[in-house]
Amino acid sequence: MDRRKFIKNSIIGSSIIMAGGTIQSFVSESKLWKNGDAIMPVLFIGHGAPLYTLDDNKYSRAWKKIAEGIPTPKAIVCISAHWLTKGSFVTAMEKPKTIHDFGRIDDRLFDIEYNAPGSPELANEIAKTMTDLHVEEDHRWGFDHGCWCVARCMYPNADIPMLQFSIDYHKGASHQYEVAKQLSFLRKKGVLILCSGNIVHNLGQLKFPESSTYEWAIEFDEISKKLIEKSDHQSLINYQNLGKSANLSIPTPDHYYPLLYALGLQSKNDTVSFPIDGISYGSTSMRSVLIKSS
Ligand code: ZN
Repeated sequence: MDRRKFIKNSIIGSSIIMAGGTIQSFVSESKLWKNGDAIMPVLFIGHGAPLYTLDDNKYSRAWKKIAEGIPTPKAIVCISAHWLTKGSFVTAMEKPKTIHDFGRIDDRLFDIEYNAPGSPELANEIAKTMTDLHVEEDHRWGFDHGCWCVARCMYPNADIPMLQFSIDYHKGASHQYEVAKQLSFLRKKGVLILCSGNIVHNLGQLKFPESSTYEWAIEFDEISKKLIEKSDHQSLINYQNLGKSANLSIPTPDHYYPLLYALGLQSKNDTVSFPIDGISYGSTSMRSVLIKSS
């Protein structure tokens, strides 16, 4: 899409925040990705606490703004830190259920259903196209909170088909990065690949209520930013060699792996930006990475 057309389309969509924090959106049809448009961006979102999906806050606002600034995808494939499997799976049901996979943080979270449709056809196409990997079509999962908490802020009408692709947690960092490359065909079909985790994620060190931020969290968030800017993906894959701040920031790699998916999907002509940054609750980086064709 040329720049003039993109700007024109970008300003058509609008949104309003309703009483009680419900977000309603009116995204114009003209923003919908079409054949011939530039390939879809790839997004890594630092999702943080499920609470951010409630009410109006700087993160929910920023997620919505990102959605308004990119073409409306034909479908979304979400890679969430919260679907860790042995082997690779893609959700293939017509109507995925909303999974409330958290403790009793706020009762309102349990009332939320994100009723976006699935797409058995797209799931089947993914399984068939990824010939270097055995991908099983799944009918049991749904949308975990790493997926729906972000998606409902970006696309509150829940009218875009959405799938989840699992992280094979029995494989290492380089495997995740290579698997991502096999998903790149989706960008040319107008599918948004939404990677949802946190670059810095140490639940054992959370400061609740929120107070100061750990130096090591700030340090590793900054190290990651610089390596992403330099496209030094190899160093990020080998994160265990990045020193003490990396080890404290990634005690387990579940929330870090979605970043490697986003980076694996980056192509040579893409530009990278950071629409959101900051550390929440002392030890969770909220940094997001937007990868767009230039
Ligand atoms: Zn999480």
